Amino acid sequence: MKKTEEILICTSADGKEIRIPVVRLEGDRPGPHAVITAGIHGCEYPPILAATEFARTVDLRAISGIVTIVTIATLPSFETRTPFVNPIDGKNPNRFFPGDENGTYTENLTWHLFHDIIEKGDYHIDLHCGDMTETLAGFCEFGTGYSDEVDRMSRDIALYSGVKNLVESNINSDEGDLPPGLNYVNSVKHGVAGAIFEIGQMGRTDREYVEAQLFCIRNVLRHFGNLDGEAVATPDPDWFTTYETVYSPAKGIFVRTVEAGDDLAAGDRIGEIYDYFGNYVTDVRCKKAARILYMTSSIAVDKDTFIADTVY
Ligand SMILES: [Zn+2]
Repeated sequence: MKKTEEILICTSADGKEIRIPVVRLEGDRPGPHAVITAGIHGCEYPPILAATEFARTVDLRAISGIVTIVTIATLPSFETRTPFVNPIDGKNPNRFFPGDENGTYTENLTWHLFHDIIEKGDYHIDLHCGDMTETLAGFCEFGTGYSDEVDRMSRDIALYSGVKNLVESNINSDEGDLPPGLNYVNSVKHGVAGAIFEIGQMGRTDREYVEAQLFCIRNVLRHFGNLDGEAVATPDPDWFTTYETVYSPAKGIFVRTVEAGDDLAAGDRIGEIYDYFGNYVTDVRCKKAARILYMTSSIAVDKDTFIADTVY
């Protein structure tokens, strides 16, 4: 039985220090190796609060196998309160997995996260929430297409995560608007069952968000036998398979007329855009019947910038 807290220190290709805080829990009984990553986006606070609270409060006697927790994966973003990207090179870490040992700082960081930590796991939960200017409905997206066993484990992460909106992403499918370089998708591509879990939004630290993140951590660990206790599958979840991103048709002031979690019919209005004098410019509409998983909470939009991610 052992708990270690360590700042993993690596050096980027251009000589900068990369620090990754990692907690490792080892039980006396055998079990799988779970990897949990929080703080890939440094302004997404409920994942960081839940990961650190779990590490602080867990009873090691209840642990089997190994649980490795990266508490704040992108420290430069966290320390400088920079949403979405790593301020050192302006890159979004969740678009650069598996990274590049000889690339820029973010690519080096994701390379080390994957090769030094995530790749060693049997399954991987990547904890996120809506960033500073995003609102979202709780969801879990899981990767399939590697093998029956990995697919089943990925699906189970979602089913035991505690949220209702479950999205399957097949790594072999070109359908939908899933961006490249996603952390959990990369895990699945390398045979580590993986899912991204999202609940919380807009820089808030509401206890209900932290509790939902904690539920996901504990319930999934229980399901796979890493933590003592009974796991509970989400009853009657909603399953989705395809993403469609809605982009802004114009620059201006965006006023949303729907909320994350709403179900829309094809052509339904998501919001309206006004010019800088307050004159109506255009509607923003969705193309297909879909549920809004998350959307910008910002009123500032440029033409072709992100408005919402919908699933069906
Ligand atoms: Zn995120």
